[in-house]
Amino acid sequence: MIYFDNAATTMLNKKILKNIKSYYDTYYNPSSIHSGGKFAKFKLQEAKEDIKNILNTSHEVIFTSSATESNNLVFLGILDKKSPKKEILVSKLEHKSVLKPIYKLKEYGFNIKYVNVLKNGKLDINDLINKINKNTFLVSVMSVNNETGMVNNIENIAKIIKEKSIKYGKIYFHSDITQSFGKINHDFSDIDYLTASFHKIHGPKGVGVIFCKELNLRPVILGGNQEKIRAGTENLPNILMSVDALKEYISSHEKIKMKIIKLEKYLLKNLLKLKNVYVNGDLNNKIYGILNISFEDHRQEKIITLLDINDIYVGTGAACNSNIIEKSETLSSMGLSEKRIKSSIRISLSMYNTKKEIDKFIQVIGNIC
Ligand code: PMP
Repeated sequence: MIYFDNAATTMLNKKILKNIKSYYDTYYNPSSIHSGGKFAKFKLQEAKEDIKNILNTSHEVIFTSSATESNNLVFLGILDKKSPKKEILVSKLEHKSVLKPIYKLKEYGFNIKYVNVLKNGKLDINDLINKINKNTFLVSVMSVNNETGMVNNIENIAKIIKEKSIKYGKIYFHSDITQSFGKINHDFSDIDYLTASFHKIHGPKGVGVIFCKELNLRPVILGGNQEKIRAGTENLPNILMSVDALKEYISSHEKIKMKIIKLEKYLLKNLLKLKNVYVNGDLNNKIYGILNISFEDHRQEKIITLLDINDIYVGTGAACNSNIIEKSETLSSMGLSEKRIKSSIRISLSMYNTKKEIDKFIQVIGNIC
């Protein structure tokens, strides 16, 4: 099998997989008061300190079950019914786990304003600047789009929001960094909340994170005091694996990045030899490893199925309901034609992919086309 759907999720880091049993030795509940519980609590704290050190941040670390949960906890937790500021700025580029909880805030009297997207798949910064006003309560901009790989400069946006906050009063800034986590060395300083999960960088599924500049979110999941704003026994074995996956990824990052860039260039050179094949987005402004390609003479469902028959897994990036692929909001917001959107697939690579796999892919897709 050839796995080119790494933006959806990745396989567990092979070293971690080999030692997986050892992580389950720390099965105690960090809330227990016996020595086992104390040890678990110590390991949990150590994991948080490790992450802060690796990412060079003093933001508080809150572990969750996924980036989806992290996003929900931020938006439903930030809800301040008394705030006189009632506008939220977001774009259609965002993942559904951002768009849906933000949409829910309408029920509490918030207005949602959508920021334009440029043809190249980036957020239109000028439109964002124009839309910020004295009523702006919150802005959310993702670092990297999961469908196209387009990069938004979140540090620059954070600076703009900081300046506007001086004029208009505090404007919160959230960034979903799920697709750049461990890959882009972000400066968190001026960002109030950042959210991510570890399964995109060979960590286990079931662990997400919120980085909070200040822990001022309301708890949404109520119960015990675990994770301060999020009750529930911590998934310690998976948290420990997650931190190790992050360490492993970052310590070999240059090597991983170079390998993937080389594979991607080779793949692209060959794909562009085919008729009516187009890249969606801007190759000069994207993260390594995600390629969104339209094969204009073919429907995406057909390509994905034919690749699947050949044991090659790719994705679309857009959500799928009972095998029907929803129309991509991201590609639509970039102004792409219906034909281009409905013939697009997402090829996303990881450090475990090889040139041999790319060669096989090129041969199969050549036959399909
Ligand atoms: N945000 C982005 C940008 C993503 O790519 C994803 C995963 N597709 C999520 C949020 C949700 O992540 P999780 O699977 O950890 O809930």
